[in-house]
Amino acid sequence: MFDHWVYVEDMKTELPTCKMVCPRCNGEGSHSKHLGTFTAEEMYEQGEEFREDYIAGKLDKMCEICKGLRVVDTVDENASDPTLYRLWVEQESERLMESWGTRKEILAGC
Ligand SMILES: [Zn+2]
Repeated sequence: MFDHWVYVEDMKTELPTCKMVCPRCNGEGSHSKHLGTFTAEEMYEQGEEFREDYIAGKLDKMCEICKGLRVVDTVDENASDPTLYRLWVEQESERLMESWGTRKEILAGC
């Protein structure tokens, strides 16, 4: 999900990586976010069968970010040069904003 290199004056520099809990599914490996959220009333209208499946997690889909692994690779802030790390956060934030409109906070750490 995250690239782990930065471009410094057009030179591609690789940064050390570590694992972090997947920000999309919060470490669950799957989620039902594709269904959206329901109010109690909407839930009621879906019928009993749907409610049972929903609560039992049967409608969950495998997380598309971590592919069910519950963790993703990200850049290890502690092992990185602070200057390079800041640069990476900037570049990666821009990339994520373009690809899925995510905010910067998602990059915060291992
Ligand atoms: Zn995930």
